[in-house]
Amino acid sequence: MSDTILQRNIRARRLVALDQKSAQALGDVVRMRILEVLSHRPMSAEELTRVLGNSGHKKAVTTIRHHLDALKTAGLIETTKMVEVRGAVMKYYAPTIRAFSFEVPLKFEDTHARLIQDTSARIQKILRGILGDKKFLIESEQNGTVCSVCKGNHFREYAAAEIVNHALVRAMEGNASAENASDKQAKTGNSKH
Ligand SMILES: [Zn+2]
Repeated sequence: MSDTILQRNIRARRLVALDQKSAQALGDVVRMRILEVLSHRPMSAEELTRVLGNSGHKKAVTTIRHHLDALKTAGLIETTKMVEVRGAVMKYYAPTIRAFSFEVPLKFEDTHARLIQDTSARIQKILRGILGDKKFLIESEQNGTVCSVCKGNHFREYAAAEIVNHALVRAMEGNASAENASDKQAKTGNSKH
């Protein structure tokens, strides 16, 4: 016989889709910080070490190189430029993922309840569009494996979420460059006065 001593409903609130390599590579605050810093512009190990040092992560260049190697192996950063400096090759790295590391405020979900609800309704429509796409259905069928717990195929959910994820990053980049462009316009506008 068993007595239930606690029961409460837990809902998933956030989505995390990581392959094993990325999950291992990201298990370190410095690596998360490296990805954040590199999202501003590509940097070399030396420059990255200086920038991190200025923001409270004082590390040796060799340590940073070790982190960069781990991130590169996991495909989370790539070499974007190589420069010859006094006979040595200096590599510049850029991130392939957009990483944010914030402590999420406790009341985040309550504070933004209305926006989350509105956005959810819109995304439902978007998901229906993705799941109804013939090419998507065929391709996700080919890659799916059977779940050992429920015998379902979760690859399709994962693939749909990843499409939204990729599209979100692209949309945010589009907004950022649009904002920069309007900033520049505002500045040139001001200089004419
Ligand atoms: Zn399952």
